[in-house]
This record gives sequence, C-alpha cells and structure tokens, in this order.
Amino acid sequence: SKIRLGIVYGGKSSEHEVSLRTALSVMNAINKDKYDILPIYVQMDGSWVKGKVTDQQLHSVDSLRLTNGTASASATNSELVTHAAVPTMNFGQELDVIFPVIHGPNGEDGTIQGLLELANIPYVGAGVMASAVGMDKWMMKNIFAQANLPQVKYVGLLRSQWEREAEAVYALIETQLGYPCFVKPANMGSSVGISKAKNRQELAAALELAAKFDRRLVVEQFVKARELEIGVLGNEQLLTSVVGEVIAAKEFYDYEAKYKGAGTELQIPANIPAEVSERIAELAKRAYAAIDGSGLSRIDFFWDEANNQVYINEVNTMPGFTPHSMYPMLFQAAGISYSELIDRLVKLAMERHEEKQ
Ligand code: ADP
Ligand code: MG
Ligand code: MG
Repeated sequence: SKIRLGIVYGGKSSEHEVSLRTALSVMNAINKDKYDILPIYVQMDGSWVKGKVTDQQLHSVDSLRLTNGTASASATNSELVTHAAVPTMNFGQELDVIFPVIHGPNGEDGTIQGLLELANIPYVGAGVMASAVGMDKWMMKNIFAQANLPQVKYVGLLRSQWEREAEAVYALIETQLGYPCFVKPANMGSSVGISKAKNRQELAAALELAAKFDRRLVVEQFVKARELEIGVLGNEQLLTSVVGEVIAAKEFYDYEAKYKGAGTELQIPANIPAEVSERIAELAKRAYAAIDGSGLSRIDFFWDEANNQVYINEVNTMPGFTPHSMYPMLFQAAGISYSELIDRLVKLAMERHEEKQ
C-alpha cells in the first residue's frame, strides 16, 4: 500500500513564498505510485488548510499562492483547520509521515517538530533540538565552540543590552572583533536583517536593523572568503555530498541573490583542492553530530583561500529544497536524484521514529 505523506508548507514567516515553491517541487517530483500526498497549507495568519491535491489545485496553488502569498479559499475539496484545532487533526490516522517544508521561525526552529512529536507521527528532517539550535545563530555558535569547530570570532548579545548600554556594546565589539563586522539577528535566515558595518556609525545602524527582527543578536568578524556548502544526509550514519560553491555578484549573498537568482552562480562541484573538500566533509559531520542532526542539513563554510583556513558558518536544517536549490543539486552530483532524496528522507524519518519508541 502507498505511503500517506503529508506536506506541511507555507507558514508565518518571511520565507513563506520560498516554502510554497519547495512544496510544489516535492509534490511534483514524488513517485505517485508510491505515495499519496496530503498537502497541508499553513496560511500567513497561522491557520491551517488541508485538502486532497489535484492537478487543478496544484495549479491554483501555484498561480494564486505564489503570487500573493495568501490562502486561496477556492480549493474545492480542502478543509479549513483553525490554529487551535491543529493538535486534533489526528495526523496518525490520516498519515504515515509528514514532510514539513517550512523555512525560518515557526518552521525549521523546532516548533512544528514539537507539534509532530506530540502527535507521535514520523516527520522528515531534524528533530526539536537540532532544529532549534540550527535556527539560533548565537546558540549554534556556542555549540560549535564547544565542539572545537573552527569559526570566526563572534559576540552574542540581547537587544535590551544594546538599548541599555550602547556605548559599552560598541566598545566590546570593537575590542573583540574590530571592523568590518557582520551583524545578524540570531533567529532569521535568508540574510534577512543582516548587514556589514565598517565603522561605529554603521554598527549602530546595523544593530538597529537586526534588532527589528530579533531580541537575540550576533556580531561576527568579517572574513574575506569563498563560500562553500555541503549536504549531509542521515541520522546517525552520515552521508556527505560533494562540496559546492556560491559565487555572488553582490557584496554578500543576500535574500535577492538567493531566491531571485540575481547574479548568483552555483558551482557544483566547487573548484577547490581535494584536501579542502575532505576537511569540509569531516567538519560537516562533526557539526551535524554536535547539534544532534537527523534527516538532512546543508552546512555552510567560509574558505579563506589566502590563508587556507576553513571556518564553519552555519547549519541549515531545512535548506532550500527545490530541484534547483543547492542541497538537492549537491546530492544529484553525488548520484542521488531529487526523488530518491525524498524517498531516503522519508525512510530516515520512519527509522528515527522507530528508534525513539
Ligand atoms: P543566513 O542564515 O541568512 O544565510 P548567514 O550567516 O549565512 O545568514 O549570512 C548571509 C551571508 O552573509 C553569507 O552567505 C555571507 O555572504 C555573508 N556573511 C555572513 N557572515 C559573514 C562573515 N562573518 N564574513 C563575511 N561574510 C559573511
Ligand atoms: Mg541560514
Ligand atoms: Mg547562510
């Protein structure tokens, strides 16, 4: 009998639109002889819509939802499930496994994962802890430090600390890191709220911007480096992909560059020495284990070529996952197709669920 796969997508984050693209790609690529798909759409207001998918609906999801990011109530055989009613959806009776493809806060940060744990249903990707750690750059860096992974120097701080004692915060950043530095909200993705500061005035502006998005902030030393990424697949036995490079035309790899393809080039495999790829694969596995990853993650690195130094930048537990995104392409290059990747992820989800019982 077929595997009943729920795909939860959309969500209350700025990455809503990206999630829709991912969900559509997964639904289109999946082997229909093997899976029955139930799309579950989390609208911008947090309410959930579920319904049997038809080609027509897929099409309407594509045109309607991709353009304005709001729900289409026109989906004929869909059912509106209010936010409060979510835990009574009876996932276990309707579905065998869920693939949450929601990026950013409320999606890849452990919250959906927690809901699915409570519902006792297998789900694709990282668990609660790895998701939460992977979403919080400050916590993630603390864990990398504890695992002795090489990374750029950083300072973590709370928005309230900066509001209370701005001068002391600037002085601390200047002595610990210097300029230029990068200022980031701890809990975002897709370069949202991130900026580079070359002096105190820019630092103040950068902190002000980042503070609009999060109460937890991270400031890092700037490193002039090539950006290399690798995919990891597995629960406790880990498989790594080839290493890819992101070559951005803009000053840094921002939201526009990432999702609109503006001047960004993906080089797969990256044109780097084998020794650097091997080091990255080894560091990636250690980082994955350090956050207790499972399912998948894309792990991003900086390679300072002049000094031949590799630094880990971040773990993305729900990386871009359309067939043209880095993670699936890295595995494609390693001999695992997009639909096989989905099969393996579903299998890993079931295995992890078994192991916990
Ligand atoms: P996100 O989770 O939004 O992808 P990142 O921490 O990866 O956030 O930062 C986004 C981009 O900003 C990176 O891909 C890189 O181009 C640039 N960047 C981030 N941190 C640094 C740094 N310390 N030095 C140089 N560039 C950086
Ligand atoms: Mg990220
Ligand atoms: Mg990144």
